[in-house]
Amino acid sequence: MKEIKFKEEAAALADEIIEWRRQIHAYPELGCKEFKTANLIADVLRELDIEVETEVGNTGVVGVLSGDDNGPTIALRADMDALPIQEETDLPYASQNNGVMHACGHDAHVAMVLGVAKLLTETEIKLPGNIKFIFQPNEEQPPGGAKGMISDGVLSTPEVDAIAALHVNPQLPTGMLAVKEGPIMAAADKFTVKIKGQGGHGAAPHQTVDPIIVTTHVIQALQTIVSRQVDPLEAVVLSIGELQGGSSFNVIAEEVNFAGTVRTLNYELRKKMPQLIEKTISGVVDSFNAEYDLTYEKGYPILDNDKIMVNYIENASDQIIGKRKTLQLNNPSMGGEDFAYYARKVPGVFAHLGAGKSSGEIYPWHHPKFNLDEAALSIGTAILGQLAYDYLLDQSKS
Ligand code: MN
Repeated sequence: MKEIKFKEEAAALADEIIEWRRQIHAYPELGCKEFKTANLIADVLRELDIEVETEVGNTGVVGVLSGDDNGPTIALRADMDALPIQEETDLPYASQNNGVMHACGHDAHVAMVLGVAKLLTETEIKLPGNIKFIFQPNEEQPPGGAKGMISDGVLSTPEVDAIAALHVNPQLPTGMLAVKEGPIMAAADKFTVKIKGQGGHGAAPHQTVDPIIVTTHVIQALQTIVSRQVDPLEAVVLSIGELQGGSSFNVIAEEVNFAGTVRTLNYELRKKMPQLIEKTISGVVDSFNAEYDLTYEKGYPILDNDKIMVNYIENASDQIIGKRKTLQLNNPSMGGEDFAYYARKVPGVFAHLGAGKSSGEIYPWHHPKFNLDEAALSIGTAILGQLAYDYLLDQSKS
C-alpha cells in the first residue's frame, strides 16, 4: 500500500486549517447553539464527498469516510463549543460575538479534525477501514454533549472500535505531545446543600437557629473529609464555589444555600464521597438543631486512557514530531472532560497537543486572553491522521 506522508501533507494544508480555525474563532457559539460552526463543518465535509449527518445529539455533526466495509472503524472527536467569556485579545480574527469566546481551543480541535478529513480524502487511498469524524456540541457545560451523541447512536453504524481526541494546550510548547495511560482527567461531580435554620432578630440569637453559623461549621468540616478521611496519597478535590444566605445585617436568615464540586480519579472513592459528605453535613447540622437538604449529581466520569490506544498515539506522535517530543504525563488533571463518556464505551485516548508559543505571554485555558500557536494545528492533524491510519492498517490485519 502507498505510504502517506502525514507530516508533509498536513503541512501543505496548514493555511487552510488555520483559516477554518479563524473563521470559527471569530464566530464562537455556546454549547448546543453551534449552528454556524456545524454548518461550516457540514459544508467542508460535503465538499470532500464525505457522508454527513447533522443534528446528532443536538447540534452535533458526524462524517464517515468509508473504506473497506469489513475493516475496523476509528473515531476522531472534536468539540465545537465556546465559553461565556468576553475576549480580550487584539487578534484580527477575535470574537465578533459579544461575551462569547473560544477560550479553550475547541476551534482548533474542529479545524484539526477537518484537516484529517481533507488530507485523507485527497490521498485517494482506499482505507483498510472507516474513519468517523465526530463534532460534538457542549463540552463545557454539564451534562455535556457526548452523552447525547452516544444515545443518538454515534458509536454505531458503522460500529466504532476505538476513539481518539487531542486537546490543545498552550502551556505545552508547540511540537510536543503529552499523554498517559489510565486516568488523565478526573470525575467531576456536583453537590448542592440547603441549610435550614430558624430566622429571627439579630439581637435575640437564642430564639433562632442561625443557618449562617451552621454553614460555616459545615464548610470547615467538609474540608476535613479531604484532609482527615481520605488517604493523603489519593487525589481528591472538594471546592465550594457558591454560597448565598441572608438579606439584612441585623436579621438572622431562615436558610443558606451553597454548592460545590468534587473531583476524584478513583472509582471507589468517587462512590464513597457522597456518603462522607452526607454524614459530615448531617452530624454538624444535627448538633446545631438545624436541618439540611443535599443533592448530589454525578457529572463527567473519570477519563481513563486505554493502554493500547496510548501506544498508537505515542507511535504516531513519534513519527510526526519525534520520540523526544512525545512526553509521558506524570499526573492527571483534576479537570473534567466529557470525552470520558466515549472512552467508557470503546478504547479511547485523549492527549495534550502542545500549542504554546516560544515567546510572549501565555494564558491558560478559559482566560479572556487565551490564544494558541497556530503552527500546532497541522502537527495535530498529522498526528491524528497517522494514528487513525496506523490503527486501521494494524487492526485490519488482526
Ligand atoms: Mn476544552
